[in-house]
Amino acid sequence: MFNDSLEKSDVDVFNAIVSEDNRTAEGLELIPSENFPSKSVLQALGSVMNNKYAEGYPFFRKKDGTVEWDKTGRYYGGNRYIDVVEKLAIERAKKLFGAEHVNVQPYSGSPANIEVYFALLVFGDRIMGMSLDHGGHLTHGHPVNFSGRAYNFVQYGVDEESNLLDYDNIRKMAEREQPKLILSGATAYPRTIDFREFADIAKDVGAISMSDIAHIAGLIVGDAHPSPFPFTDVVTTTTHKTLRGPRGAMIMCKKDFAQKIDKAVFPGMQGGPHEHAIAAKAVAFNEALQPGFKDYARQIVKNAKALADGLMSHGFKLVTDGTDNHLILVDLRNKNITGKEAEAALDEAGITVNKNTIPYDTGTPWNPSGIRLGTPAITTRGMKESEMKTVAELISKAIDVADDDSLLEKVRGNVRELSERFPIYS
Ligand code: PLP
Repeated sequence: MFNDSLEKSDVDVFNAIVSEDNRTAEGLELIPSENFPSKSVLQALGSVMNNKYAEGYPFFRKKDGTVEWDKTGRYYGGNRYIDVVEKLAIERAKKLFGAEHVNVQPYSGSPANIEVYFALLVFGDRIMGMSLDHGGHLTHGHPVNFSGRAYNFVQYGVDEESNLLDYDNIRKMAEREQPKLILSGATAYPRTIDFREFADIAKDVGAISMSDIAHIAGLIVGDAHPSPFPFTDVVTTTTHKTLRGPRGAMIMCKKDFAQKIDKAVFPGMQGGPHEHAIAAKAVAFNEALQPGFKDYARQIVKNAKALADGLMSHGFKLVTDGTDNHLILVDLRNKNITGKEAEAALDEAGITVNKNTIPYDTGTPWNPSGIRLGTPAITTRGMKESEMKTVAELISKAIDVADDDSLLEKVRGNVRELSERFPIYS
């Protein structure tokens, strides 16, 4: 029974997977946090590395905190080959970002952030992070999230006029609030983040500096966005967005924080690491170390700028009037359609985006005034600036005919034509 193919053993799941494959092949995936990893990454992810328990680390940490790489630090036997891949993942991540220490075990971006707070703070400590409705992530202190419940977050946002981060205001807030940790990074901010300025502010008020680069990690690797290294104390990232790896995360930090971070990840918050995901991270990091990845990262940004220009030429208003990175936030208020309605209409047309609040939105996260889109996944397919013009046109058409199913079906046909010229997994 264990050797049957999925097609034979579970036709319902098999069919859903095939349909999802077709949906992405025929459509345009514009959610900025999504991407298509290579077949090699997926192969490692679906490998026997899934089967092993490996609590602990591929090195032994002595009482004084120093590490011996030739001794095991695992609580289970049989980890010879698991250690090989986890060491490769760590070494490659260090090289990729110039990090002093890396923990590749966090299951995903949210646990990684919580693990940092748990490692370096006590419950109730004050943290500064960006509010969700201005572009921050739930784990940056939203009251419904564990972060906002367990820690005393004070939240900064963007300027009401420019919708940009106002570093003078952030500095004043830091001086007034005296946080223990200052977090930079965002999930819906279309402009460059000045990590140096954030780290300087943190240093000046005696706080730990932390950056969550989940969205832009791939751009940083490709020199398409300034890096928070080497001056930021702790950096978290997911591995499945612009970095084009498996769903997962990692924590990078200065050596001084290494022991505390590792202890917080295991045994503090997690049990057995997902070694199949770690093997896939190692593969993705190797891909990102190749010279071609820089071209890819730069093309993501070129495409986002071209898509932004295209959308503006069709009368769309963009938050901050453009983008510096992979992401575009569209303010739909002049188009007489809500973010929720636009997401649904675009979905019908085979274009996947997500509804999103815009800064100072009068709508709610469930029915906001904007949509968020990005170019990592369509860039992976090989699309360039000229296709971005077409994509902007298709988005505009779909929004114009949002109430008409048969016209949306026509747009869907055009979307399919474009998509099929750029196969994902051929
Ligand atoms: N941090 C940022 C900036 C994110 O955008 C996200 C997810 O979108 C996360 C953390 C959380 O990652 P995950 O969904 O893997 O928990």
